Amino acid sequence: MGILIRKKSKSRGLHLPENKITDYKPIEMLPVPEEVIIPLIQNIGAPCSFTVEKKEEVKTGQKIADSKSFVSAPIHSSISGKIKKISKILNPATGKLMEAATIGSDGEDIWVERNPLYDIEKSQDYIRLMGIMDSLKKDEMLLKIREAGIVGLGGAAFPTHVKLSPPPDKDIDTVILNGCECEPYITADHRILLEYGRQVLAGLYIITRILQPENIYIAIEDNKEDAIDYIKGLLSEMSLDKIFRIVSLPSRYPMGAEKTLIKTVVDRSVPMGGLPMDVGVVVNNVGTAKAIYEAVIEDTPLISKVMTITGEFNNPKNVIARIGTPVSSLVELCGLKDESYNKIIIGGPMMGNILLDSDFPVIKGFNCILAIESRTPRERNCINCGRCVSVCPMNLEPLTYVRNTKNRNTEGLSNYYIQDCIECGLCAYVCPSNIPIVGYIKAGKAMLAGEKKAK
Ligand code: SF4
Ligand code: SF4
Repeated sequence: MGILIRKKSKSRGLHLPENKITDYKPIEMLPVPEEVIIPLIQNIGAPCSFTVEKKEEVKTGQKIADSKSFVSAPIHSSISGKIKKISKILNPATGKLMEAATIGSDGEDIWVERNPLYDIEKSQDYIRLMGIMDSLKKDEMLLKIREAGIVGLGGAAFPTHVKLSPPPDKDIDTVILNGCECEPYITADHRILLEYGRQVLAGLYIITRILQPENIYIAIEDNKEDAIDYIKGLLSEMSLDKIFRIVSLPSRYPMGAEKTLIKTVVDRSVPMGGLPMDVGVVVNNVGTAKAIYEAVIEDTPLISKVMTITGEFNNPKNVIARIGTPVSSLVELCGLKDESYNKIIIGGPMMGNILLDSDFPVIKGFNCILAIESRTPRERNCINCGRCVSVCPMNLEPLTYVRNTKNRNTEGLSNYYIQDCIECGLCAYVCPSNIPIVGYIKAGKAMLAGEKKAK
């Protein structure tokens, strides 16, 4: 075990220009911001409600919003200070207004009381650490993960305690730690592996204690040889090489997508409309594993995010930013090279969304701020070349979504499994007619959702 398995890609995809200009930049811990804006909606599932009021004083790590729903995750204050206001801001994902708390810092960063069980930065007594993790009960670990507000940090923002609680009829025999960061430009997960590898492996150990799978894989692309070597060394140092196996994968986009990853690592196909648990697999991102360690062992909730700030900046970086930090302050910190690079994208160039309001804050699901030159090529008619079909990693027919969305044909969208589209953007990338296919797909999905709600 602990051995390196090299796998060939089993799904369609492309090797894209990597542009990972921050690959060698260590993660910089940013100072505590003077003010944070913390929105209520930060996860897939039920939204939270505020448990604090205007003018109330809060500490760093204090829970300020929660929900009674199982499929939700509480939200914590990322600084200490006073709630200045609770107002409505635009949710860029839905175009609807949502509540957000503005908190002014007291400049002290006073934390809520925490009871850490171990500090991996101070001690490398791994036998003791394993003993502590082995002594914890499954429900206790799940509760800590829930109370810390952890969601999938690869971008999906699905509550982690829910993902780690599969229904009894789902027999999970495989866990995959997703260390594939296949989007161009983004290097946050690569740096997490290199700088927080021990926390990530301890987090993975907690996941496997909860799910008790037979097979545990750590999937890393072959363009991150330094991370593969480092994790391999850590596995033997932490005596985890008997239970965890590293899988080196070709750096093809979208290797990090769950279904692509599962197909490549264990050769199982998640059915159309299905979930990884339908084929006995749970996938967790490396940032999520780090957050799980911090929650369960260090009693620290999710109040900050490792992110890459990259593209046309004078000083691109990997940073740890407090949740709620306005994106505008991070853009200012790194300095745009030229004002013509006016398009700020949250996420990578393939799956990211254009930021419409630069005062919008960092939320749990953000992993990158990308500045690129704004250019919109003219859309032409579809020439039925089929390139979008041949490249789609989900085996879909993207050209049908353009036609059916234009015709408002929701039945057609459904019949061609639009819900299985992971919005990877490859179809639009290869389209010679410059058709913004993903835009049509998003509009088509919204049309379908609206129709279901109306029924
Ligand atoms: S965006 Fe959707 S339809 Fe287009 S290639 Fe990716 S998965 Fe396929
Ligand atoms: S790649 Fe573009 S032009 Fe070719 S079939 Fe697909 S949508 Fe039409």
